[in-house]
Amino acid sequence: MKGPLHEVILHRPLLGDGAMGTQLMIARLEQGNCGEAWNLNHPERVLAIHQRYVEAGSECLLTNTFGGSRIMLNRHSEADHVGEINKAGVSIAREAFGNSDGYVIGDIGPFGGLLAPFGDFTEAQVRRAFEEQATALVEGGADAIIVETQTSLEELLIGIQAAQAAGATSIIGSMAYDVTLDGSTFRTMMGVEPEKAAEIMEEHGANIVALNCGTRMDMQRTLTAVERYRSVTRLPVMVQPNAGQPKLVNMKVVYDETPEQMVQGLMPILEAGANIVGACCGSTPDHIRAFRRVMDEFLELKGIALARSSA
Ligand SMILES: [Zn+2]
Repeated sequence: MKGPLHEVILHRPLLGDGAMGTQLMIARLEQGNCGEAWNLNHPERVLAIHQRYVEAGSECLLTNTFGGSRIMLNRHSEADHVGEINKAGVSIAREAFGNSDGYVIGDIGPFGGLLAPFGDFTEAQVRRAFEEQATALVEGGADAIIVETQTSLEELLIGIQAAQAAGATSIIGSMAYDVTLDGSTFRTMMGVEPEKAAEIMEEHGANIVALNCGTRMDMQRTLTAVERYRSVTRLPVMVQPNAGQPKLVNMKVVYDETPEQMVQGLMPILEAGANIVGACCGSTPDHIRAFRRVMDEFLELKGIALARSSA
């Protein structure tokens, strides 16, 4: 039996995966269509993406359930399938690991709107939707739940509490930061700073504080975010930045950081104490393979360091 994710990573950092959304597009999912429904309609395509990440060295996979809440699925008339889609998402990721015992992280993305009084959704509606999704992911056998790409503390907390209500073993809260126009710092679209997010997450019982996606959050900024998280919390830290910035090339969205460019910033992030490292939009199995090489170097260095200190 493997230990809870948030405990295991205190002893050894783990490698996450790369993007799902942009990989689904490459697998011919059309813009605006429901990628999560592929868990039921085209499970082999989702499995193939997960398997490429496992082959590249991923030890944690996020399920293909980013938009798997009732509120999101309702936009595609798939709200009747919340349970099936999320459970299938977990089993497809599990299958991708084959005989190796990697971690399946049940993915909950934003509900895609604003909470009242600014938007049309009440807190109770969002809570119900997240609890329903989290329950399906936990029942499906997810090792952890990540509430990701969050920009508001209110929605983040509803997600964390939903994961708790569902009985999740490990709960990850992940914020999407944007670099400010003057480039001096970063915060979420709703104005949340990393220190505040980490404090709130710790206070409310999240087990891992994270960041993903965001705008202009390159590896250098990601390093700064790890340091800022570390300055206020002892909880383990997970990071999944984008592969650079999206650009429109021949009417297609392309991300501009190659694996070689991105991986240059990885060693300092590991040295700063990141416990899970992966990547978000635009990243590919090649990015993760490059991450694997640096991570193995890091582990070997630490192993040698440990051996020396015990000699
Ligand atoms: Zn992303």
